[in-house]
Amino acid sequence: FGGLKRTSDRLGDNLSGVLTGQTRLEGATLDEIEDVLIMSDLGPAMAARIRDRLAETRFERGADIAAVKAVVADEIAAVLGPVADPLDIDAFPRPQVILVIGVNGSGKTTTIAKLAHYFQELDYGVMLAAGDTFRAAAIGQLRVWAERLGVPIVTGPEGGDAAGVVFDAVKQATATGIDVLIVDTAGRLQNKRELMDELAKIRRVLGKLNPEAPHDVVLVLDATNGQNALQQIATFKELAGVTGLIMTKLDGTARGGVLVAASEQYGLPIHAIGIGEGLEDLRPFDPRQLADAIAG
Ligand code: GDP
Repeated sequence: FGGLKRTSDRLGDNLSGVLTGQTRLEGATLDEIEDVLIMSDLGPAMAARIRDRLAETRFERGADIAAVKAVVADEIAAVLGPVADPLDIDAFPRPQVILVIGVNGSGKTTTIAKLAHYFQELDYGVMLAAGDTFRAAAIGQLRVWAERLGVPIVTGPEGGDAAGVVFDAVKQATATGIDVLIVDTAGRLQNKRELMDELAKIRRVLGKLNPEAPHDVVLVLDATNGQNALQQIATFKELAGVTGLIMTKLDGTARGGVLVAASEQYGLPIHAIGIGEGLEDLRPFDPRQLADAIAG
């Protein structure tokens, strides 16, 4: 699976050197494997658990790379399996409102475009709302995507009130029978207080129009940030609530393991992964595939 090649390389290369071919792995070998696992961003708890599993395992034909990887992959898949959860459009009354949050540069705008494309392919009526009014570039970029996709977009002036844009968007989406409204939001974590107020105001306005909205609060995380992604989950949970994750840029990094650490720690649904800059590069999250890619 090409998109995750970088993720696949790391663990496999590092494991090859330490294996003994014996039916039981010994302490020093287990230590080394545990180190490799920690460096793969799986997190210490997960690494320790896999180590325990490996210590218990009797390798009938000798502990070779394939046998060890199989144990690692199974253990990772057991963590990722329960959190895989595609975004479904099931809100009544329509529209389903999906708030997309994340720090600037995480791939938020691109992910919104990819999601819009994904829902269009499923024959849903999609609308975008440019709720990041802080950056003129963000509004412009989203507008370009909307034109390319042929979906309606609601924008406001730069520096304008984001909640006002969202209010207008929900009104228009409701009036025109839109199924999914995807809302971009500001991502300037440098000013947490302001961002928190702004997101809270958006939620308040949405809640007045439909008590169920926002139906989804999707946090976009950049895989190349490694362990920082974990801190971002904590921060955005506090700022805005988070109902699910999309991790981007898994094509450009060997750090897919951080998704496992995130699942261990937070258990949030993982909706999809990004493996490139194009519209088709949003993939459903397949736990087995990522587990195999991480294990190599
Ligand atoms: P935003 O500031 O969070 O809205 O981020 P953007 O959507 O503008 O994305 C920042 C950069 O990351 C852009 O150059 C995107 O093309 C790129 N990008 C987004 N998602 C992916 C991905 O899954 N893989 C790769 N390689 N690049 C991505």
